[in-house]
Amino acid sequence: MTYPKVELHCHMDGAIPYRLFVKYCREDGMVPQDMSDEDWIRKHVMTETMTLSECMGEFAILTGILQSEERLEELTYELLKDMYAYGTRLAELRFSPQSHQNDHMTMDQAVQAVLRGRKKAMAELPDMVSGILLCMMNLGLNLGTMENNKYTVELAAKYKNDGVVGIDLAGDETATPIESYAPLFQYAKDLGVNYTIHAGEAGPASNVAFAISQGGKRIGHGIHSIEDEKVVQRLVDNNVLLEVSVTSNYFSRCVDSIDSHPIRKLWDKGVMININTDDPGLMGIDLQHEYDLIQKHFGFTEKEFILSNLYSARNSFCPDRGKIIESLTKAFRECQ
Ligand SMILES: [Zn+2]
Repeated sequence: MTYPKVELHCHMDGAIPYRLFVKYCREDGMVPQDMSDEDWIRKHVMTETMTLSECMGEFAILTGILQSEERLEELTYELLKDMYAYGTRLAELRFSPQSHQNDHMTMDQAVQAVLRGRKKAMAELPDMVSGILLCMMNLGLNLGTMENNKYTVELAAKYKNDGVVGIDLAGDETATPIESYAPLFQYAKDLGVNYTIHAGEAGPASNVAFAISQGGKRIGHGIHSIEDEKVVQRLVDNNVLLEVSVTSNYFSRCVDSIDSHPIRKLWDKGVMININTDDPGLMGIDLQHEYDLIQKHFGFTEKEFILSNLYSARNSFCPDRGKIIESLTKAFRECQ
């Protein structure tokens, strides 16, 4: 049965298609003359068990080659077209504007470039729904500042009617206490900006409890909530959707093995789960890979997958998500 897939948690830089990765690296003179495209890709694709901090190091290379408006626009366009080809019909892409500001591009211009790419793709994909999330960055690893994070919230408000659908807090969750970001979420509330929060990925269940206390209706990963039954219950009681990425959690050592991932336990306890790639380019996977993996290791049925997508569509921040909700509701009813 075909049904529209909903992916809400995908970092644009970590999702860069290989063709663009090699093209930009060659243009920037990073690839040795005698090295093939395949060898260059193999050198940089994550295999297994990198720490979250090491993942951030690979991320630095990706953000390094995405420092022009032309490339950000092209990446957004190509990525949405690729996602469509893989069966995704509702996509929220995220990136951190402050990671792309330099001498010739402001945070504002970076957002405009991404929105141009989105607009161009959407003109060619009439049955696709998409939105852009702007990531605030955790202050660890020198990836962000409070000032830039605050400005990120303002940019999300500024481009609310042009394709930006919310904000996120990303980066190394273990680097600083998550509570210190509370004023930013209050600011987002004041400006009417939606937000999701990376919490309980590498950090403890108490970080998930914090995200819930901020009124977050979506949480990036949140898998460590499994360590505290009360937090799991709060997720259920507050109708919070977890944006889960099984392969990413394994590669970044947030779980010891694929089989020990709590996706099935959380789902069976009534937590709404959304299935994502997180950083597909970096990890050499696509969304179908995640569905196959979850089906194989955790026995998710087609009906459960459809329901997961329906929860995801309902919790999407895209204003025009209605038509996707409608077709998923129909698919759910028809699926035995
Ligand atoms: Zn993420």
